[in-house]
Amino acid sequence: MIILLAMMKMEIEERLEVTEQLFRDGLYLEALQILHRIIEEPSLSDEHLLSHIFYDIGNILMKLGYKNEALSSWKSSLRIFPDHSLQNEILQFVNPYGMVNGEQSVHDDFKAFASVQMARYLALKQQGCFSSLAEADMVMDLISDHWADIIDSGLSNHLSCSQKLGLFHRYHIDFPLLKQVESVEVVFDFQNNRLMESDTICNCGSGLPFYACCGSILDPKEYLIGLK
Ligand SMILES: [Zn+2]
Repeated sequence: MIILLAMMKMEIEERLEVTEQLFRDGLYLEALQILHRIIEEPSLSDEHLLSHIFYDIGNILMKLGYKNEALSSWKSSLRIFPDHSLQNEILQFVNPYGMVNGEQSVHDDFKAFASVQMARYLALKQQGCFSSLAEADMVMDLISDHWADIIDSGLSNHLSCSQKLGLFHRYHIDFPLLKQVESVEVVFDFQNNRLMESDTICNCGSGLPFYACCGSILDPKEYLIGLK
């Protein structure tokens, strides 16, 4: 039995070597397919290996330009097996909102504002998601208009990121579809309400600060998944 288990493990390790070669050759999709299949194997019980596979998947997704997905995979790797150098790598990729770094900090601020407002809008909708791309566009247009007002007013100038987040959470946009719902005073918590303790280490076991881990603000794109 022990020999059998050892063989199975060796097989996985051999396949990992193949995927690493594929990675070096730039055959990312092929490598990804093999890794996904390995993850589904019931014989995969070695946490170190599993963590390693999530790390490799993250590397491939990063090469393919799927940065948010890559970060999720790296965080999964850390939750299984914390690793200091991967923690540092992740921290270099994220802004103080825990989102993938943008080119300019004002873009990061806008994305965080949009994300907070989209979460508020969707929390008030029964389905919890956008029904159509047209609806998402309408919400995004409103958010952009309000963002222009914030920039013009200088409200967010000279604030730290956590102060800006506080402002973004307090900022009220009258979304037309939600007027009725809000008039009955719906109470909701923001999933991303992380104004306090954002620098403390996350309790999921990744070893990352909360803001860069489970407290990270979602990229607005992630609210649009599945929409046509
Ligand atoms: Zn976490």
